[in-house]
Amino acid sequence: MEYFNEKVGPYPYKQYSVVHGGDGGMEYAMLTLITGNRKFGSLVGVTAHELAHSWFQHVLATNETKHEWMDEGFTSFISTLAENEILEENQEFPLSGSYRGYLRLATSGIEMPQATNANRYNHNAAYESTAYSKGAVFLGQLGYIIGQDKLFETLQTYYDEWKFKHPRPNDLRVIAERVSGIQLQWYLTDWTQTTNRIDYSLAAVDAKGEGTEIRLERKELMPMPLEILVQLKDGGVELHYIPISLMRGEKENPYSMEWTQHPDWAWASTTYSLLLDHKKEAIEAIVIDPSNLMADIDKSNNYYVDQQE
Ligand SMILES: [Zn+2]
Repeated sequence: MEYFNEKVGPYPYKQYSVVHGGDGGMEYAMLTLITGNRKFGSLVGVTAHELAHSWFQHVLATNETKHEWMDEGFTSFISTLAENEILEENQEFPLSGSYRGYLRLATSGIEMPQATNANRYNHNAAYESTAYSKGAVFLGQLGYIIGQDKLFETLQTYYDEWKFKHPRPNDLRVIAERVSGIQLQWYLTDWTQTTNRIDYSLAAVDAKGEGTEIRLERKELMPMPLEILVQLKDGGVELHYIPISLMRGEKENPYSMEWTQHPDWAWASTTYSLLLDHKKEAIEAIVIDPSNLMADIDKSNNYYVDQQE
């Protein structure tokens, strides 16, 4: 509860009850039902999840039939992070379960847009993955686009300004834009109103004069800003950042090392050429999105490793 109070905003009531009986994890206002005979970790997990619902399902109270991902997804996101910290799991990537769930959905052939009315999904599994996993990944990627500090500032402002007012997706977008200075309509549209997917690839790495040309390709419809890590054979590491023009802005560098910001990737282009000041022989490896926060559906084409050794 302290974690949620700090990361999202203060719980406004004097009581919360965990009631042993009935359903095996079901949220109500100020209350959850739980079942017994569960392992400790499972009991903590279900209690954390149902408790987190008090912020999103109860106090913010979005319309669950229309925007179920704004409750189940955001609840999953914050309770997963809370468990990781409080149980000292120290996972390097605590949201990996949500990302795996989304990637299974995106390659399943049964995905429908997140904006689908909850009663109108063809498959229950598609509804569930869309609400829980794709909803949690919405925030994971928002943190990738605007930065982790700005993500939590967005969540706190959103909770503060919209508690008891039934916010809609655009209300969250407007706050994230105000907090970050980055335009986000493209993100909300592609992620929630379509089943467009993300796939960037390192199409070619070629020697060019005294340097190297990396040819990047966007293979699916959804655009994203890119972070590219270059590992040099002399032990040096470089970070490159390519915003997209739709953002009309860029993220502050979240890393402790410097990065090079490149011109925007124009939104309709499927290719982008990145020039490095190093000879090809000096490059050990190149990686698209070292943070893994971008839900790229095919990571096998995100890497280049020098084969000559
Ligand atoms: Zn839930």
